[in-house]
Amino acid sequence: MPRRWRPGALIHCSAVLHAAAAAGIALRPEAWPWAVGAVAANHGLLTAAGLLPRCSLLGTNWTRLPGAAAARGEIALTIDDGPDPDVTPRVLDLLDAHRARATFFVIGRLVREHPALAREIVARGHAIENHSEHHLKTFSLHGPRWLAHEIGAAQDTIAEVCGRVPRFFRAPAGLRNPFLEPVLARLDLQLASWTRRAYDTRNGDADAVASRLLGGRDGKTRGGDILLLHDGNAARTSQGRAVILDALPRVLDSCRAAGLMPVTLEHAIP
Ligand SMILES: [Zn+2]
Repeated sequence: MPRRWRPGALIHCSAVLHAAAAAGIALRPEAWPWAVGAVAANHGLLTAAGLLPRCSLLGTNWTRLPGAAAARGEIALTIDDGPDPDVTPRVLDLLDAHRARATFFVIGRLVREHPALAREIVARGHAIENHSEHHLKTFSLHGPRWLAHEIGAAQDTIAEVCGRVPRFFRAPAGLRNPFLEPVLARLDLQLASWTRRAYDTRNGDADAVASRLLGGRDGKTRGGDILLLHDGNAARTSQGRAVILDALPRVLDSCRAAGLMPVTLEHAIP
């Protein structure tokens, strides 16, 4: 059963404002510049909300794990843009060595290219979730039909290859528009962003990536945090290694020292 679409606060306000602007023009046609101005400002606000990946004004959005998981000292490592045949197997070994579970937001097209690797992620106890079929830069510029097709295609790919239907969706680069949330509701997908990211597709400094994920110099990682790293599209260190391979062990060691347990997003659903 798809979940019910619950429009975010900004969507409610926008609907009311559009209706008020139409009624205002009907009652006092000479006031049309005010009505048009208000609607234009509202669209500016909707666009701004879609450009902020952690914003919840367009609909429900996990930026942290739910309260019970946070209270149990659980955190979530989320790893995007794979599977990558060079990097992902080594990430899986690192996670095994630290007995940590992670959530991989995979690209459907790459799952079709590397089906055995996608299945191995699941077989080794991790979760695979939906990061769209093609991961296009123009993702957030499309309408509801295209979004439904693009996200539905990745659902089908992952279900066919891995035998598991994703529960979570993450937008490419976190960029969204107001049409996304009703599509996710129909597909029974929960949008997930993150608590902290380290721009590790651009930053090849593993120390900087790890310390940014861990909350900066004062080390503020706490239960409930959702951290974002990349196995696909990873920046390279000065030695030419994908930066996640050097940053991840530091993150996992710090989490263990702080008594935090990395779990999958699915595990944290109340
Ligand atoms: Zn991505």
